[in-house]
Amino acid sequence: MIVSKQTGDARIPKHIFVTGGVVSSLGKGLTCAALGKLLEHHGLTIAVQKMDPYINVDPGTMNPFQHGEVYVTADGAETDLDLGHYERFTHAAINRHSNYTTGQIYNSVISKERRGDYLGACIQVIPHITNEIKDAIRQARGDADVLITEIGGTIGDIESLPFIEAIRQFGIEEGRGNCLYIHLTLLTYLRAARELKTKPTQQSVGKLREIGIIPDVLVCRTERPMTGEIRSKLSMFCNVEHEAVIEEMDVKNSIYEVPMMLHEQGLDALVLRKLGIASRVVAPDFSAWKHVVETACHPSREVEVAVVGKYIELHDAYKSIYEALAHGGLANDAHVVVRKVNSDRLDPAELGKVLGGVDGVLIPGGFGERGVEGKIASARWAAEGGVPYFGICLGMQCATLYAARDLVGLEDAYSREFDENCPDPVIDLMPDQKKVTLKGGTMRLGSYPCRVDPDSIVGRAYGTAVVSERHRHRFEYNNAYRERLVDAGLRVTGVYEEVDLVEIVELEGHPWFVGVQFHPEFQSKPSEPHPLFASFITAACAHADAKADRSADGNAHGNGAECADGRARPSTANEIGT
Ligand code: GLN
Repeated sequence: MIVSKQTGDARIPKHIFVTGGVVSSLGKGLTCAALGKLLEHHGLTIAVQKMDPYINVDPGTMNPFQHGEVYVTADGAETDLDLGHYERFTHAAINRHSNYTTGQIYNSVISKERRGDYLGACIQVIPHITNEIKDAIRQARGDADVLITEIGGTIGDIESLPFIEAIRQFGIEEGRGNCLYIHLTLLTYLRAARELKTKPTQQSVGKLREIGIIPDVLVCRTERPMTGEIRSKLSMFCNVEHEAVIEEMDVKNSIYEVPMMLHEQGLDALVLRKLGIASRVVAPDFSAWKHVVETACHPSREVEVAVVGKYIELHDAYKSIYEALAHGGLANDAHVVVRKVNSDRLDPAELGKVLGGVDGVLIPGGFGERGVEGKIASARWAAEGGVPYFGICLGMQCATLYAARDLVGLEDAYSREFDENCPDPVIDLMPDQKKVTLKGGTMRLGSYPCRVDPDSIVGRAYGTAVVSERHRHRFEYNNAYRERLVDAGLRVTGVYEEVDLVEIVELEGHPWFVGVQFHPEFQSKPSEPHPLFASFITAACAHADAKADRSADGNAHGNGAECADGRARPSTANEIGT
């Protein structure tokens, strides 16, 4: 029993477990985030957690093609990108207990065994691994009213079995009335038969029942609306109440439509009833969220921004970046069209063609030398053309290398990451990182404070003197080159004072050229766009407007054949160089 901080009344913590069936990539993370959001609107405090059945201790060492983006929490854990959805949709406290992997669970059990904690017992999946999983669930719960735990993978996978067994046991231990099992499944539409098929769902629920879990709620992903007949069939053959069969249609415009759609389907009311919790509000107020959805679906204008990266083919690799750009758009009532540019195949001579017409260039974080020259060239292109530039982590390092080479005149300026022996390591390892031998979990990770110069682009955007931003990198701006870089026009406008580390650089005299060593994208929400993304998109809109004005001027003089900035006309393609 816990006592709520908010009201002081004694409450029994409630648990929701979300499993997935039929296929992967059904959007379990989004569904959990949307449900969390709905419950918050009922005045409940929530926590959200993901269990990942792979053996890696965390996704930090995985290739983005394997895993997508690595999401970094404020307390410095490298986690699954679904945690990004949780943070964007809800106010849940997300931390290292919000994501556990099989590797982490085994690591902890094996360490305890080596310490002798098990007093001579033979260590087995049941009970030792399952107990460890249950402890991890209780850890994540904190003092929230409701913890939503997402189980990664698909029912039927061998890997996820210990997690499923643990959540089954959890229901017995905590009381079946305090635990709710939601199964997210796919209704497949057969074009030839013009029918939604329920059999894969029936089989998936059958598999769950074999392991001892009877789901309370079925959330059905479907591209077509469910008929009453389908609902009845699913209810009867999956042994789920008729009204607990929830339809989750594919959304048309924005993922931010999902919470309202599930609310209209009655998911929140159903969950509250089944868990025996009363809503703490008379009527949930969704007006602010509806405003977000309305702006996302019907923006007043469009602006195009290039994202130049190595893993551009995989949308998930830069998930939080794309989301934060969209939030920057929301702050400006604009839809941000992303031109995805593969840095690997970027020929500096072709830059005008590839980037021509965009109103902003963003270079996200990255590792390794491949594609880096294309990124430096893109920073140069934006700097010289007065196009808004936002460099994030490696993108900040590339902007610094551009300035070192072109403005200071250090032709061989490079990062120690790419060349151990480079003569001018403008980006270098700090002494403590030189001692690091293990790859996993050893970067500069998590939140650090940064003092920003109030008289700068970032200072005006933030409106506060000290900000806290999340990091994930090993290499840093080398202070040995600071004076020369600043003298050449690359201002330092953000510093981690304790060790005098440069965190933010800005190009003097440019409308918006900013590089940040941290990852602001992890702190952006649709309802609270990150100030730097909002400011970047404002600058991109201003760039587009100025271009349109100049072009109108040119047309008035019968000279409209080219873009006003002399660059090639915008391409309509959404992906270039891939
Ligand atoms: N590879 C660079 C470093 O480790 C940048 C990392 C990043 O962009 N996240 O410092």
